[in-house]
Amino acid sequence: MKVNGYAATEQKARLTPYSYDLGAIGSEQVDIKVFYCGICHSDLSMINNDWGMTQYPIVPGHEIIGEVIAIGNAVKNVRVGDKVGLGWMSASCMSCEQCMDGEHHLCSKGEATIVGRNGGFADKVRGHWSWAIPLPEGIDMSKAGPLLCGGITVFNPIILAGVKPTDKVGVIGIGGLGHMALKFLKHWGCEVIAFSSNPNKKKAILNMGASQVIDSTSPEELESITGKLNFILNTTNVSLDWNSYLTALAPKGRFHTVGAVLEPMAIPAFSLIMGEKSVGGSPIGSPALTKTMLEFCVRHKIYPDVEEFPMEKVNEAIEHLENGKARFRVVLKNK
Ligand code: NAP
Ligand code: ZN
Repeated sequence: MKVNGYAATEQKARLTPYSYDLGAIGSEQVDIKVFYCGICHSDLSMINNDWGMTQYPIVPGHEIIGEVIAIGNAVKNVRVGDKVGLGWMSASCMSCEQCMDGEHHLCSKGEATIVGRNGGFADKVRGHWSWAIPLPEGIDMSKAGPLLCGGITVFNPIILAGVKPTDKVGVIGIGGLGHMALKFLKHWGCEVIAFSSNPNKKKAILNMGASQVIDSTSPEELESITGKLNFILNTTNVSLDWNSYLTALAPKGRFHTVGAVLEPMAIPAFSLIMGEKSVGGSPIGSPALTKTMLEFCVRHKIYPDVEEFPMEKVNEAIEHLENGKARFRVVLKNK
């Protein structure tokens, strides 16, 4: 089956039309006709080879919504015609301890949708059935794409940290991931403080339910909430004054990063020891939790704020995100 997509052929290159053949479908694989694909900051990082693992040409795109158009003879759970989502992962081994435990996202033999293979800035994409997540009835497909990577990435830490509805929490960076985190935590019942470096976003952030917006780059402003927060989620990939955030945590508070900060993060031991605080991180979430999150979104009408671009305007869409103009997630639409 021929796939028509957009690829970067070298580091930091603009995307150009690119076709490739998928070959015969594997017994456990599904082919998906792509309707929509969100643009995650990780797509930019992969185009730019920020993480040193990009193989060119690369067709980015891992926030995919579409329809199953072909399945291998041993596929379970999905059928041709089903509407599904495919996110950062496109396969896991199904037999390691983590897969057997339902934590397929921690599978060390797993396959990422845009690492060494091609993703969703295309008319079709292929993956293992376990990661083709059936969409719940009534979901708005035009807005659901970003939930498949950005959404589950910020939903999982809420579960991991055992965040309670009575908690006061903080989200650093109100971009694609951050604004979804803010919406989830608000619906969870928490009081949410937003940390943003962009004053132009303030009104929109308050409208999403934040109780307060604090300049994420100002340790002085952070002093106003010393010892107050039970949980802080970082979604930025830049170096901030992390110790000020640890100081903003209440005793037993947890600082969690999903933002792929490239430089080592300075974490003074005594900022953790005295208040029994902890620091952690996580990738996406399991297929089962992704399904649960989608149902939670439909129940509460939680969707990212999306800006839609036609797939062929992929370069303009990427530039829009790169320039910090996205409000708050860009989604590409196929004709
Ligand atoms: P994004 O839409 O670009 O949002 C990032 C936000 O970070 C920006 O909107 C901005 O928020 C803030 N920021 C950017 N530059 C800054 C600076 N110089 N100083 C202070 N704040 C700054 O990106 P995204 O798609 O949400 O992705 C965020 C990060 O998560 C990326 O590193 C991405 O690779 C990573 N990620 C990780 C996983 C995982 O599995 N762990 C999954 C998906 C993505 P304000 O304007 O509000 O300051
Ligand atoms: Zn992503």
